[in-house]
Amino acid sequence: MSTPRVFIARFIPEEYLALVRSTCQVDLWPDDLPPPRDVLLERVKGVDGILSLLTDKIDSAVMDAAGSGLKVISNCAVGFDNIDVSEATRRGIPVGNTPGVLTDTTADFAFALLMAAARRVVEGHNYVQAGRWKTWGLTQLLGQDISGAALGIIGFGRIGKAVAKRAMGFDMRILYYDPMCEDDPYAAQISARCVDLDTILTQSDYLSLHVPLYKDTYHFIGEAELAKMKPTAVLVNTARGGVVDPDALYRALRDGVIGYAALDVTEPEPIPLDHPLLSLENVLIAPHIASASVQTRGKMIEIALANLLAGVRGEQLRHCVNPQVYMTDLE
Ligand code: NAD
Repeated sequence: MSTPRVFIARFIPEEYLALVRSTCQVDLWPDDLPPPRDVLLERVKGVDGILSLLTDKIDSAVMDAAGSGLKVISNCAVGFDNIDVSEATRRGIPVGNTPGVLTDTTADFAFALLMAAARRVVEGHNYVQAGRWKTWGLTQLLGQDISGAALGIIGFGRIGKAVAKRAMGFDMRILYYDPMCEDDPYAAQISARCVDLDTILTQSDYLSLHVPLYKDTYHFIGEAELAKMKPTAVLVNTARGGVVDPDALYRALRDGVIGYAALDVTEPEPIPLDHPLLSLENVLIAPHIASASVQTRGKMIEIALANLLAGVRGEQLRHCVNPQVYMTDLE
């Protein structure tokens, strides 16, 4: 058997690559920016495996360019909305992701955003830097309480539950909306209430989004949903930018329909500097860094490389989002 060829679509430190280099011919995209589309299509020609990031659109054109020898697409993320999974499944190509290892880190960051928004941390810093801090003011930079407030969680999966766990330490009342987890035992343990969409929108002081992005969740939070929220509500999005309609969000924040938005993800990414959202004071935007800790990124790289190696060897991936590809083998 010839040495498998793999394309790795982003710089990965050498210390992680020893095993894959000893087994495969590795083409490593050396840049911090993603490969341009034409380069991606060229570099994947004839490869056995692709390691992609969420910035790389892996669709049928990329699979065609790779050719019939493509055995695995390994995404270095838990989300996989950048990959045409049904097309990969149709072709019998397993798609890997990196669930679990980024749950706590992402939940930590969602909570950091929630707290920063509630207590106007970034505005406070800007206030000091601009030389506006003249005295201790009774009504200066007032925020909203976190303790005792109602936290709504949309998407009660791994990260949604981990956010709920953090919220318990703040005595928050936890509501969640997730049609797939109506009788969740963890919810019972922490007295989280499963509610319908209207209730979570109207009753939450903080609303944190943790659904994957797919056709049904695209612009899940739009004008109608924002209109139902409290005028003081804080919207936190660490899921995917496309889950929120950015134009509707801009209008809602501008017009006081909701109080604040704290976003780790935007549509598009990166958000253009002239985007109207950036002109507002009641918005806080981070550059998609919710899973960005030294420890977690290391674990994500290890899992993505393990998935890549398993795939080129014809072994089952440790974390596979389309396990149907193995079932058809058995038929
Ligand atoms: P998960 O699969 O464990 O949880 C997702 C939950 O959403 C599931 O419980 C599912 O039932 C629920 N859900 C699906 N559709 C829904 C709908 N229409 N309404 C309500 N609930 C719905 O996934 P996870 O590990 O918790 O990750 C969630 C998402 O977070 C990922 O798909 C990814 O896009 C995003 N994420 C972002 C970052 C970041 O860096 N900002 C990091 C990790 C994950």
